[in-house]
Amino acid sequence: MSRASLIVTIDGPSGSGKSTISRLLAHRLKAAYLDTGAMYRAVGLAAQRQGVDLDDQEAVGGLIEALDLALSPGEDDTRVLLNGEDVSLAIRTPEMGMMASRVSAIGAVRQRLTRLQRELAKNQAVVAEGRDTGTVVFPQAAHKFYLVANPEERARRRTAQLVEKGMRADYQEILSQIVERDHQDSARQLAPLQPAPEAVRIDSSALSIGQVVDLMLATINHP
Ligand code: C5P
Repeated sequence: MSRASLIVTIDGPSGSGKSTISRLLAHRLKAAYLDTGAMYRAVGLAAQRQGVDLDDQEAVGGLIEALDLALSPGEDDTRVLLNGEDVSLAIRTPEMGMMASRVSAIGAVRQRLTRLQRELAKNQAVVAEGRDTGTVVFPQAAHKFYLVANPEERARRRTAQLVEKGMRADYQEILSQIVERDHQDSARQLAPLQPAPEAVRIDSSALSIGQVVDLMLATINHP
């Protein structure tokens, strides 16, 4: 297999450590990091700003057609440009997490973003993270992981992340949003959150970030 076609997927529920771990793993593998959740968040933000009725298929179609979305790696986060505007911080709120979860259940949105994700992985090695990267977007990926952690630990991590970014964060509120988002993402018909049968499952509840990355590198058989 050529380097350019190396694809590693990391799926799992919100707050399981996917983003930090994927970024570190990509760095170790000298691969690009593809944050698919950021793309769903950007579509959620666009829908909210334009007041699009998510039950109106035509309106959603129009939104998707006009979507101008670009991703580039930032220092410690993916930079997301929506119609040329840097929305990297605006998409990180818990509210945008919920909006992303709503728009991500719409077929036209998933089709467009899946296409874009495949294009981004065309000529480079990537570590992709999300909900369906191992099942739908890159079924041919060489290595697939499914990362889980208990909801309380995930809520604790998310709260700390938001506080670090200087955002408002309430643990109880975040915990109930995590539980609701897990349910929405797992119960939906299209590309539901579920492990690919061949994915290696890792519970990160009691592991450090470094331990998870080392475990993944060992599985991939990378020095
Ligand atoms: O990973 P993150 O929390 O940024 O994802 C936001 C939301 O986007 C998820 O809750 C999920 O509904 C949706 N998503 C998805 N498929 C992906 C990545 C994210 O449906 N591959």
